[in-house]
Amino acid sequence: MQFTKILSANLGGIPVSLTNDANAAAIGEMTYGAAKGMKNFIMITLGTGVGSGIIIDGKLVYGNDGFAGELGHTTAIRGGRQCNCGLKGCLETYCSAIGVARTAKEWLETRGEASLLRNVENISSKDVYDAAKMGDKLALEIFDYTGTLLGQSFANFVHFSAPEAIVLFGGLARSKEFLTEPILKAMNENLLPAWKNKVKLIYSSLKESDAAILGASALAWDL
Ligand SMILES: [Zn+2]
Repeated sequence: MQFTKILSANLGGIPVSLTNDANAAAIGEMTYGAAKGMKNFIMITLGTGVGSGIIIDGKLVYGNDGFAGELGHTTAIRGGRQCNCGLKGCLETYCSAIGVARTAKEWLETRGEASLLRNVENISSKDVYDAAKMGDKLALEIFDYTGTLLGQSFANFVHFSAPEAIVLFGGLARSKEFLTEPILKAMNENLLPAWKNKVKLIYSSLKESDAAILGASALAWDL
């Protein structure tokens, strides 16, 4: 029996809808946020992982089993970093907050140049952001690398569903001043002429804590 049916039965027959946080955030964005009125967009959440919600023709894509839109586990680098999911080279192993910290740790070990990050213990993506703010070359290069990998992946996603925009959301999206340029450059370099320089990159206007809750509440209108 479906979980929603069990829950509904236990709530005296009240209709129940269920989705994951990234999908709920996409619906929140479409109903209340930066993607209001858009019928085709891809929401990418850059948090501890990389989540996504795909909207096509005004509808969230669920797929055969309800799990569609695991774009964080598409391959950014073949045979690359080990992901928690068991696969290797997943986008989220490079472009989540944890991925950015991982890049910093890797590069500090394998490269010799000076960096403010050498003084930081247990580096987080926020530390990399703070260092980039202070003009640290290695930190700036980490964002350039992260943005480039994101842009290359976004080009793949655009070829799949022809969105009007990619909407970025989540903690790491706050580093937009360092991510926007490399993302757009890499995305447009890898797009067919039909979409080159046409797909918007926008940042969520909703508060992080709000988007998924608003989206989940909007789901109820379709019950
Ligand atoms: Zn993975």
